[in-house]
Amino acid sequence: MNKALAAPCGLYCGVCGIHIASRDNNQKFKEKLAPVYGAKPEDLICDGCLSDRVFGYCKTCPIKSCCSDKKIEGCHQCADFPCKFIDNFLIPVGKKVILRSVPRWREVGTQQWMAEEDKRYICPHCGYPGFRGVKKCRQCGNLIDLD
Ligand code: SF4
Ligand code: SF4
Ligand SMILES: [Zn+2]
Repeated sequence: MNKALAAPCGLYCGVCGIHIASRDNNQKFKEKLAPVYGAKPEDLICDGCLSDRVFGYCKTCPIKSCCSDKKIEGCHQCADFPCKFIDNFLIPVGKKVILRSVPRWREVGTQQWMAEEDKRYICPHCGYPGFRGVKKCRQCGNLIDLD
């Protein structure tokens, strides 16, 4: 289990497109994702929220700082969830995922939660691993919608 991928907000980094493109050094995938994040392909580098190489916004995320101040691993350990930071989360689909993911993390613990998130984004048509926000499988081209 790579704990650097256990983003305190519940947006598990193992299924983040930026992390996958970075990990695989996949130039084609980076070029596809770059406009979505308003970044240059070469800047799409991230080893996970709790690693030493973190991408853009996630570096200064107030949710991460809040968990660190409270000395907890994530919002699943906070009685105030969902707080104003979650409510004001910039990306609507991200907020939807947080509201689903954090209670599940609380319920099953880190290891199972990570395993379930990994499985969740696998293409139901061909079994190719997807990523959060995927609309079309990169392998078989079928449309998928997995939040
Ligand atoms: S960009 Fe953010 S969500 Fe993606 S892997 Fe890095 S820290 Fe995690
Ligand atoms: S107050 Fe609780 S739920 Fe909100 S960001 Fe901080 S740890 Fe997470
Ligand atoms: Zn597929």
